[in-house]
Parts: sequence; C-alpha cells; structure tokens
Amino acid sequence: MTELLPTNNSMNTTTPLGTLSVIVHRGTNEIGASCIEVASANTRIILDCGWPLDGGDESEPPAVPGLFAPGSKPAAVLLSHAHPDHIGFISKISSDVPIYTTKDTSKIMLVGSCYARGIKLPADRFREVKVPSASGPCKTHKIGDLTVTAYPVDHSAYGAVGFLVEHEGKRVFYTGDLRFHGRKPGMRERIIRELHGKLDLLVTEGTNVGREQTGLSDEETVERTAVALSRSHPSLVVASFSPQNLDRFVSFFNAAKQAKRTFVCDHYMAAVLYMVNRSSFPKPKTGSNLRVYFPKRRKVIEKFEKHSRAAEITLDEIFAAPHEFMMLVRPSMIAQDFGSRLPEKALLLYGMWNGYRQKKDWLKAEALLAAKQGAIHECHTSGHAHKKQLFDFINDLAPRSTVPVHTVHRDEFKGLNVPPRLVTNGEAINL
Ligand SMILES: [Zn+2]
Repeated sequence: MTELLPTNNSMNTTTPLGTLSVIVHRGTNEIGASCIEVASANTRIILDCGWPLDGGDESEPPAVPGLFAPGSKPAAVLLSHAHPDHIGFISKISSDVPIYTTKDTSKIMLVGSCYARGIKLPADRFREVKVPSASGPCKTHKIGDLTVTAYPVDHSAYGAVGFLVEHEGKRVFYTGDLRFHGRKPGMRERIIRELHGKLDLLVTEGTNVGREQTGLSDEETVERTAVALSRSHPSLVVASFSPQNLDRFVSFFNAAKQAKRTFVCDHYMAAVLYMVNRSSFPKPKTGSNLRVYFPKRRKVIEKFEKHSRAAEITLDEIFAAPHEFMMLVRPSMIAQDFGSRLPEKALLLYGMWNGYRQKKDWLKAEALLAAKQGAIHECHTSGHAHKKQLFDFINDLAPRSTVPVHTVHRDEFKGLNVPPRLVTNGEAINL
C-alpha cells in the first residue's frame, strides 16, 4: 500500500461518514466527456476529465466543485487512458491538483504532446499509479481515506486501466474504456476473479451498445486479414493507424513479417516504442524488419530521434522495391512525401474509425491513391467492447448496481440481469 496524500484539502460535507458517493459530472448520455467523482466524507477524487467528442478545447468543462466551479479542491484527478475524451480538460485544472495515471499513459501522453498536439501531463503533477504484471497481484494506493487499485484493461490506447475505489467496505469500479477482443485476454479473468460479487457499483462504458457492429471481429482477424491482403499484393502496402494503439501496431507488424515485408514506422511510432520500452515490442534496427521513415514535414525532437536514426530508411529505398515493404502512413504523408512518386497500385490498409475518412486530408489522400490505381481496404476492429461481450462481462461480474456512461443507448442496458441505474449528469448516488 502506498500512502499518497493528505486528506484535508478535500472535505466533502455532502457525503455522510462511512458511505461513498458517486457523481457522474458528465458522460451519462453521450460518448466522450467522461468525468466521474467518487467521494467519502473526507476525500474526493475525480476519475477522468475529458473533452466532449465534438468541441475539444473550445467546450465548457463540467461544473466539478474545486476544479471548474466554486468549492474545495478534490484530492486528485485520475486518468484511465490517454484519449482526449478522457483527459482533455486537465489543461484547465489548477496547478496544485495532482494527476494520477499509469507510467505507460504518461509516456503515451508525452510523445503525443510532442508530435501530435496531444494534451500535456505536467511532470511535477504526475503521480504514478502502479499496475500489476500479468501474473502478479494488483497494487493498492491510498488517496486520503480512499483506496484505489488500477486494473489493466484492453483498449485502443496503450496503458489503459479501470479503477477500483474502496472505502470502509464499499466498492466502486470504473471501467474507463475497454474491450474483450484485443490482445489482453487475461484482463477479463483477473477482474472477474477479484471483483465478482464484490462491487456495490459498476460504472461502465457502453460505446458500442445500440450500434451496429462494423469492422472486423477482433485484433487477430485484423492481423490475418492484413497478412492475406499483403502477401499477394504486387506493390507497396501502407497502413494507417494511431501510434497510441500498440495492439494495432503488433497486428500490422506481425502481418508484415508473415508476408515477408519490412515494416516501416514513422518517427512518432518509433518514439512511442522507445518510451514504452517493453521487451515484447520490436526495436527499430538497421537490417531488421522494423525501420523508421522520417517524414519531410515534422517536428524534430532530438531526444527521441537520436534513438531511431540508425534505423532510418529513405523513400528512394522503399520505391526501389515497393512490394517488400509495409509502411505506416498518415494522410499528410501521402500528399506531401509521396505526391506524384506514390507507387502504382499501392494498397492502403485503413486501421482507424471510418468516420475520419470523410475529413479533408483523407479525401485528398484517397484521391491521390485512386489516381495511381491504388486501393483501400478497411482493416480495423473497435477499441470498445461489442455489446454481447460487454453484457456477458457485466453479468459475470454481478455488481449490485450498474451505471452506464460513454453511451448514447443506455436504455439497452435494461437487458442486463440486474437492470441499470440511469442517472443524470451531476446526480449523486450514495452507497
Ligand atoms: Zn478511449
């Protein structure tokens, strides 16, 4: 157990002694903008503090006392993962509130803030939330009189966790964003094994509930599809996905290897791999099947670039034998770096939400690809749980009560064994 904080700056006069209260400040009826408060009589903490999906920095933060509305400051803000709809508003939080998250999320945020205009996590306010190894026990943290435990969850942002918050025998689990079809099958078993029947309240995401399932069923199928498509393809294969999504990197990297192609990542992906520094991920090296392309227009961050420069590959090398490569691209690279030199019949494996394809930069990239008889194949699976797997998980977990968040179809949760509790933003639940 790690003692982290005093309690006296976060007195909460509305929560009676011996109880826990939970307030979803925002996110009860939308996807994104997640912000959940858990409080004892003495300590308040905030789980996630995200932007709404449309609006970003321009939008108004939720009226959380002590953060964005009058009141005493909470003891801490905890971030489940590095997506903007969970972390966006931390840039508006006053400078003396500590921010807890996993070391992996802090690294993903650091690299994202350098290369992709991501939200900054100020180093002096970062407090590490420890996560267990695959077989080791979870680690608990004390924040005031609350006990917090992070459980690794499978999601499209590396380093994602859900949070268990305990106080005097009462337990709340917040899932953050999660799925059951990625590359962490053990995470479901751990949560069920340790928390089955023990939760007074489950606060769960429900992004895909009520939506038609699109894309491929799981990450393994993404890999198999990418192998089949690229093995027989006579030209360059380019792949598009977020460098924060290390599951997807592994799928495409493995596919390239099986199709006997060298995978070429960009400077941003190389920096993520360097910072995360896990032995299970490959390292870019000259002569290996992972090389690094440095795009023409890029921010140069020497502290990252120096580690991958030896593995650099040029477009000339790639264009000399395009069928030997699979290359991570973003739309700006297709227009600015490839331009008229884009190899004939290039194949794009599109590994992101297909809504982005309507954006201007993608429309332009797709037109360039079409002009060279190129093709696009969607090669994606959702970062969020499919409905059936999510409902099976909730039923197996058997919490006393469930509050859906991060969904626009919360009524469908009425199909659970125990009907959900549907609350409005700002409504307190006392446990
Ligand atoms: Zn997310």
